[in-house]
Amino acid sequence: MNNFRIGYGYDSHRFEPGRRLVLGGVEFPGETGLRGHSDADALLHAVIDALLGAAAMGDIGARYPDTDLRWKDADSAALLADVARDLAAAGWSVANIDATVICERPKLRPKVDAIRARIAEILGLDASAVSVKGKTNEGMDAAGAGLGVVCHAVALLTRKEQDEH
Ligand code: MG
Repeated sequence: MNNFRIGYGYDSHRFEPGRRLVLGGVEFPGETGLRGHSDADALLHAVIDALLGAAAMGDIGARYPDTDLRWKDADSAALLADVARDLAAAGWSVANIDATVICERPKLRPKVDAIRARIAEILGLDASAVSVKGKTNEGMDAAGAGLGVVCHAVALLTRKEQDEH
């Protein structure tokens, strides 16, 4: 018998000229980057919060406070790997991830498979367990006005029932 836990994560970052853009652990050369204490990878931040939420293990802001210089310009892939280690230590396996990235630019589709492969690599999953979808906001609200990138993610965790037999 397995236990299942679903988690949801959200993140948004504003564009900031002069910074490199990294989404889902993949660079977008020539595109405007995002403001943030870490590398501002909003997609990985949403995935991290979905995973932490599923395990009820807090949230990214509590684990990696932006007041702590240790996380200045942090590689979010390393943060995700750190979370994955803690989940595994607690007996959790990631069943799948599904994420949506909302921005007017860059166009995500050309890099979607690279992003899926990168997230899967960090989590030790097959890429078929990681879905990433890009959307515009049809010109509406802040993301639609091109002010930044908004990401939503859900994650399913599974773990063997601990009190069986
Ligand atoms: Mg963030």
